[in-house]
Amino acid sequence: MLHEQLNEVGVEVEYGMEVVEYFEDAARGRAGVVLNDGSRREADLVVAADGVRGNSWPLIAGKPVPARSSGDAIFRVAFPVELASSDPQVAERFRMLEDGRSVFELWTGPGMHASFWRNQDQMHWSITHPDHGTAAESWSHVVSPEQVLNYTATVPGWPEIADRVIRITPSDQLVDWKLMWRDPQPTWTSPSGLVVQLGDAAHTFLPSSGNGGTQAMEDAISLASCIAMAGSKDRVPEATRIHNLLRFERVSCLQAFGVVNQARHNTEVAGKPKPPHLGRWIVEHDPEEYVRQNYEVAVAHLKDGAPFRNTNTPPGLVYTPWTIDGLLNAQQRGERTVLDGDWD
Ligand SMILES: Cc1cc2nc3c(=O)[nH]c(=O)nc-3n(C[C@H](O)[C@H](O)[C@H](O)COP(=O)(O)OP(=O)(O)OC[C@H]3O[C@@H](n4cnc5c(N)ncnc54)[C@H](O)[C@@H]3O)c2cc1C
Repeated sequence: MLHEQLNEVGVEVEYGMEVVEYFEDAARGRAGVVLNDGSRREADLVVAADGVRGNSWPLIAGKPVPARSSGDAIFRVAFPVELASSDPQVAERFRMLEDGRSVFELWTGPGMHASFWRNQDQMHWSITHPDHGTAAESWSHVVSPEQVLNYTATVPGWPEIADRVIRITPSDQLVDWKLMWRDPQPTWTSPSGLVVQLGDAAHTFLPSSGNGGTQAMEDAISLASCIAMAGSKDRVPEATRIHNLLRFERVSCLQAFGVVNQARHNTEVAGKPKPPHLGRWIVEHDPEEYVRQNYEVAVAHLKDGAPFRNTNTPPGLVYTPWTIDGLLNAQQRGERTVLDGDWD
């Protein structure tokens, strides 16, 4: 979809280009990237959307801000649904619904969650597990289904149907993915506002938030909306800073939400783990409309210090900065944290 849209508006995509450095030239109102072959590309605005290991931190923060291991990893794979259907029990359990919709099952338990789903073409599953140093951040770090079965054998009450799916998984496609994270970083823009980080490059997520990809897309919509509101090239720095102001607290809450959902997996209600919750403030948010409603007042806030408060966070929440270690420690001590508030 993205590629089609880029074609439509005449944007050329160059593949196989590795960005090694970002730069900006405030006097000329230009920003750019240096590629690994030494060549440079320039533009009026550079969006650094190069994921968790992005190279824009030296320009944005003045130093590298590396992500670190979260202590967890995730087994994940997708394979042709015909293969999955070769086991009649799997075929029956993961039948497409009568109205043609796909089937998704999410199981949670102490310290873990597992998703199994199928659509028209593919069977897909993922299981979080503690990382004992064997996982890697690589799509080519393949493990065998037997290794996963060794792990699921240690999980009390683990469903037999899940093991059946694991057994028929192709042995060369199963990835053990190391989950990385970074404390929330409030500034996503370069000093002159001509480079802006977006998606995982700006904010890391645990899969238990179910929101990393969603927030990357919300970022994109918000940024485009801010640029449209700014209306001219010379206001690009204003647009990126307003985007940052409108997005940071919401995204930071959703990062913390991954931590709270992870903790909920360990909490039982009537003998069952509490399901992850998804509040209205998350699913009913319209980032385009939010920019339309808040852009001008946010500009007044940045320019003249006029009062401004984000409303795209949990209702009633007064945002307080947090770090992952601080959050986990405070939770253990039963203290108030950013997670207190109406998250439903
Ligand atoms: C196991 C797992 C489960 C997840 N589940 C969910 C979920 O259920 N829901 C959800 O919303 N999100 C989920 N996410 C998160 C989601 O996948 C990410 O948040 C999302 O992909 C981030 O998008 P992005 O475009 O910012 O970064 P990426 O998808 O990481 O894209 C970055 C791109 O930049 C390229 N790149 C990197 N470095 C360079 C460089 N130096 N030069 C040029 N290009 C470069 C990369 O090749 C890549 O194409 C999950 C993530 C994981 C790991």
